[in-house]
Amino acid sequence: MTTLKLISGRVGLMGGTFNPIHFGHLRAAEEIAEKLNLDQVCFMPAAKPPHKAPMPLADYSCRLEMLKLALADRPGFWGSDLENHLSFPSYTVNTVRSFKESCTPETNLFFLVGLDSFMSIPIWRRYQELFTLTSFIVFARAGINATFKSLETMLKAQVASRIKWDSTTEAFTAPKIKPIHFQTGGRLKISSTDLRHRLLAGSSVRYLVPEPVRIYIETYGLYRKNPLPK
Ligand code: ATP
Ligand code: MG
Repeated sequence: MTTLKLISGRVGLMGGTFNPIHFGHLRAAEEIAEKLNLDQVCFMPAAKPPHKAPMPLADYSCRLEMLKLALADRPGFWGSDLENHLSFPSYTVNTVRSFKESCTPETNLFFLVGLDSFMSIPIWRRYQELFTLTSFIVFARAGINATFKSLETMLKAQVASRIKWDSTTEAFTAPKIKPIHFQTGGRLKISSTDLRHRLLAGSSVRYLVPEPVRIYIETYGLYRKNPLPK
């Protein structure tokens, strides 16, 4: 975990609460990295999510540690503690700006986000600015009702009325903003909310999260009714 890295190449940046990280996040990142030839993907847990506080929210240090465990054996995938060094709450626009300070000028940056999260972008702080800072890769997510059509409608209404779908690059484009790619990946119907419910009910999350993450959760009793002292 470092923020001093000199980042370059085709870089994915995936934000999220990761409360906890699960195979849905990992497979989505893996498929996108493969399809769009990303050299690396940085997972960026929100230090203090501005829009929702999922209950219970594990400590930032625990969520970061679980990320580290989940990504340990995947070269090119890494977790960043950058948001812990920025002012609270964590606004994505500030995070991306700050992340870019560690990138070489040639870096091709893509912000990875599931369609469910992306549909709420009009309520993100200074979201218009984000489209000038980074390309996006929006991916569909199993069990989420939003569709390509609803995405297009939202983009036209909230981002750029002249936005157009380019089927060659599989991206929406418009003057003055970076491309917004759309991918149909994200087929694993797993959510952190469901995992937290299972844990609260005393059920197993085996095979839904990487085994070292499951062991970490069990060791510290995270998300259980009576968490063990850390
Ligand atoms: P919660 O239920 O607490 O909202 P979550 O499972 O949605 O948790 P987040 O940390 O909110 O996880 O999501 C981080 C990013 O990963 C978001 O862009 C989200 O759309 C995406 N994502 C989460 N789960 C999946 C999944 N199963 N498949 C594809 N993308 C996912
Ligand atoms: Mg979510």
